[in-house]
Amino acid sequence: MSASGSPVNSRLPSLTLPKKSESELLIPFAVDDVLLNSSLIQHLTVAAKDAALLQGILMRTKEDPASSETICYAPFSLFPSPVPTKLFTQAFEVQQDFNVLVDKISMDSEFLRRALASTIEADEFTARLFDIYNQVLQEGITQPITLGINRSDYMFDKQRGQAVTLKQIEINTIAASFAGLADKVPEVHRHVMNVWGKPQEAAKIQSNEAAKGICKGIAKAWQLYGSSEAVVLFLVERVPMNIFDQRCLEMELWNRNIRVIRRQLMEIYERGSLDEEKRLHIDGYEVAIAYFRTGYSPDDYHSEECWLARLMIERSLAIKCPDIATHLVGTKKIQQELVRAGVLESYLSESPEAIERIRATFVGLYSIDKGREGDEIIAKALEDPESYVLKPQREGGGNNIFSEELKQVLLSIKDGSKRSTYILMDRIRPQAVKNYLLRSGAAVKLKECIVELGMFGVYIRNCNKMVMNVCPGYLLRTKSTEFADGGVAAGVAVLDTPYFI
Ligand code: ADP
Ligand code: MG
Repeated sequence: MSASGSPVNSRLPSLTLPKKSESELLIPFAVDDVLLNSSLIQHLTVAAKDAALLQGILMRTKEDPASSETICYAPFSLFPSPVPTKLFTQAFEVQQDFNVLVDKISMDSEFLRRALASTIEADEFTARLFDIYNQVLQEGITQPITLGINRSDYMFDKQRGQAVTLKQIEINTIAASFAGLADKVPEVHRHVMNVWGKPQEAAKIQSNEAAKGICKGIAKAWQLYGSSEAVVLFLVERVPMNIFDQRCLEMELWNRNIRVIRRQLMEIYERGSLDEEKRLHIDGYEVAIAYFRTGYSPDDYHSEECWLARLMIERSLAIKCPDIATHLVGTKKIQQELVRAGVLESYLSESPEAIERIRATFVGLYSIDKGREGDEIIAKALEDPESYVLKPQREGGGNNIFSEELKQVLLSIKDGSKRSTYILMDRIRPQAVKNYLLRSGAAVKLKECIVELGMFGVYIRNCNKMVMNVCPGYLLRTKSTEFADGGVAAGVAVLDTPYFI
């Protein structure tokens, strides 16, 4: 529930906050060195950190990432950051369209095969995921129920002389994280504003029900699986530094009387099995939902056995979140193919409005595969590297290439087959804001920052029927403009909440 007492979904479109001119966009209230003296900042910082710990905005430490003996607050901003209401609402309103689109593409094996053909040839990781997809297709899909939990990420683009617009960075269809912790940040920001003596501003801070909404989706899918003894399996990394974010979801499910177990892919290989009906079993439990919080990066498959485990899960009757097809839909290559003329139309012909809403968030994305189209865009990017981002088929932050390095890499791959492992994207120029970023061990300084808004989408399809399609909440992340790439887990961005302007 929000400060105004209604759930996020029904409230958002009717938000009526004062419109401000663009010149006021940077600083919604006096977040400024001059107006805020250092002793006030120090006072607020101490209060904020304690509030974050009390709320459970927690992370394991780099020094002790495998245990919860020494823990710390997860990095977060001292103040909420200004976010244009209009763009937040736009992101909220397009989320259900994205859910439908992702789901429809996941059922179109011909498109996936065609769109990923060149990538598979050049990129071994995508090829291996596709191998699993092929095997599952050949065998026939065992489980007609699909659970999707995705997060569409945006920045607020401010090209010179133009209004600020909402532009999509990417959509994450596997292991979209931080709903659990993001839920708790509004309460901390309300507290900071109250301590600062700004109760009116505190009351305006938007609540977030992302974790609750995600768990509603998992619980509904679990119910549809239809076995009260079966469990929800969280597939996790060897060293889960962000365990508390996952624990928030786990607790929510336990509170609904659903048993949760956590296992690594390796453990599934060692002790998991399929019975004659292809039910997935491990350590005496039948698995209803296999929820991936790992499996998106080559490092997650540190041995052949991990690949075999992924295959076993995909072949099973468990409801996968995501299934291998939906995982593939989240690749950068598919995102690039969606921008081509006519592609959205082929999936959403019944709703021209949905096509318009989705297309409005796109920037240019380009294939650099061998051929004239690729040659032309490479030439443009070499001439103007500041206007593009070079992206490999990787997830998890810190992989993208910018500026001078982009030029160097493009020159080095221009004449070889590696070209198809990348795509090019127009560089978004986000509006800068100011905030204090709180991170364990780091000095608290006023920084020029950029914010990235993520909208969570949750949906369930049973055969051909959508039985759930919602946008339960958001993630706002803020990072210093010193960094072009990197998220919270990478130690670059911090958790934040929107302050509507
Ligand atoms: P990943 O899958 O590794 O998270 P993303 O596509 O989300 O990759 O990009 C990671 C980061 O790189 C983003 O958080 C953003 O800071 C930056 N970035 C990505 N695409 C763009 C873009 N088109 N313009 C500007 N910055 C971008
Ligand atoms: Mg990302």
